[in-house]
Amino acid sequence: MSRTTELRWRGTVASRGLALGPVVVGRSAQEAVRPQGSPDEEWWALTDAVERTRQRLQGLAETADEMAAEVLEVQLAILDDDGLLDPAKEAIDGSIPAERAWGEVLGDLIADYEAEEDEYFRARAVDLKDLRDSVLAALNGPDDVPMAAEGSTAILVDRELTPSRFLEIDWTRFRGAALTGGSPTSHVAMLARSRGIPLLVGLDGDPSALPQAVEAVLDAESGWLVLMPEDATLAAFHRTAAARTREAEEQAAHLARPAKTAAGRPITVMVNVDDPRVVGTLDPGHCDGIGLTRTEFLFTGPALPDEEAQYCAYAALLQWAAGRPVTIRTLDAGGDKPIAGLTPEGETNTFLGVRGIRLSLARPDVFRVQLRALARAAAVGPLKVMCPMVTQPEEIAQVRALFAQVVADLQADGTPCAVPQLGMMVEVPAAALRAEEFSVDFYSIGSNDLVQYVTATARDNGALARLHNPRDPAVLELIGRVVKAGAAADREVSVCGDMAAEPELLPILLALGVSAVSVAPAALARVKATIARCDG
Ligand code: PEP
Ligand code: MG
Repeated sequence: MSRTTELRWRGTVASRGLALGPVVVGRSAQEAVRPQGSPDEEWWALTDAVERTRQRLQGLAETADEMAAEVLEVQLAILDDDGLLDPAKEAIDGSIPAERAWGEVLGDLIADYEAEEDEYFRARAVDLKDLRDSVLAALNGPDDVPMAAEGSTAILVDRELTPSRFLEIDWTRFRGAALTGGSPTSHVAMLARSRGIPLLVGLDGDPSALPQAVEAVLDAESGWLVLMPEDATLAAFHRTAAARTREAEEQAAHLARPAKTAAGRPITVMVNVDDPRVVGTLDPGHCDGIGLTRTEFLFTGPALPDEEAQYCAYAALLQWAAGRPVTIRTLDAGGDKPIAGLTPEGETNTFLGVRGIRLSLARPDVFRVQLRALARAAAVGPLKVMCPMVTQPEEIAQVRALFAQVVADLQADGTPCAVPQLGMMVEVPAAALRAEEFSVDFYSIGSNDLVQYVTATARDNGALARLHNPRDPAVLELIGRVVKAGAAADREVSVCGDMAAEPELLPILLALGVSAVSVAPAALARVKATIARCDG
């Protein structure tokens, strides 16, 4: 294709960076509806999708822990039921498409399970819904996770990406992504920033008409996806990319040094962990520990993680940190991080719903497992535990009481454990206004949610991105208040929301008195370099 026909699509920068490579059009951007074939073709499509799902589940079961394997075995047993597909075959012979036939078979089965008296069977309905969706996804494509060749420099172009889909993608095979949907403040944008993956959202083109493998420049600085770039565009890309490489090298020189401002004020710089694989490539000597661990990464499988799986994950982070403090946040399910089978269904506003610590306190059976794992991990190294979405002092009092109970139980069994420091995320305005009233050992300001709640703008709504402003004086006033409350009570105040990693916003935080931040590993060098340039 001639380079004179360059096509430019505008987008909003969600994660800064540049990329050049062939486009991979994701499945959600391709023709969504599979054309219906003859009854024989529909039957073949369904049995093939069931078989591929069976193989996928078997593969997952081989590496899953005991609880996850149990759920997968239930799903496999259902797929192995000889009579399962009989009603689907009948429907397909009556000219019903495979998707509808399968949906109806599973729909009936789900209704039967939901009507059961026994709670165990009712709970299995969730696994059946998962199974239904897995086969439907398989029917709609041979592989629902976008894939590029090893060593590729591909750019993913799609409509939407959910956080779980984002985590499934092997990003070593992509240099960046551009989405027609999405928002720069969404969870997916945050995940992209934490890995340094350039991302544009709100793209104004139609990827469904885009041929696979067409060459593109992703300019996630100025906000353009340029398809079939002209020579002048390619030359400009190479110039900017070379300048960014030089800057990155300069910033990397700060990595191994403790962070301090130009005036010599020391600043604690920790990292945010939302996927332990990311710290595997990071030298712990380049940071002052972990300031936020998003434990949601443990809750992505088909079953909830058991105590042992959680303990091992937490202990591994403490071992990696080699004596530096590790802050682990209790489960923050809900809002933009739903967990099937755990977060309530049907809430009209999930951001204002039963999420974070509210959900943990409502589900002590699930919370206790996490607290036991944390109490055991506290015996391994300097663990700090913090709770998300705290609104009232009473919630912290309840967590302390539960922790004390869990520790007493573990001690009675002779299991090594300890009571870790307990802190809170300050991300609800009501908590920021009365921070001093909470019985905590430290505060960590979650600016992503604080901005959302102060400005009444959902963080995943791209249309409100301009109002979702971390510089809003009301947001800065609340951050200043928490810093003062911390100083008065001699409690550490850190900022772990994304604003701490922004070169234009970090100086404002330092001027407000913040002297500890926690940022995405990919931002560490840039943040340390920015601090070194700050006065005061
Ligand atoms: C925040 O809200 O700023 C935060 C760090 O937590 P999360 O983005 O995971 O909600
Ligand atoms: Mg938050």
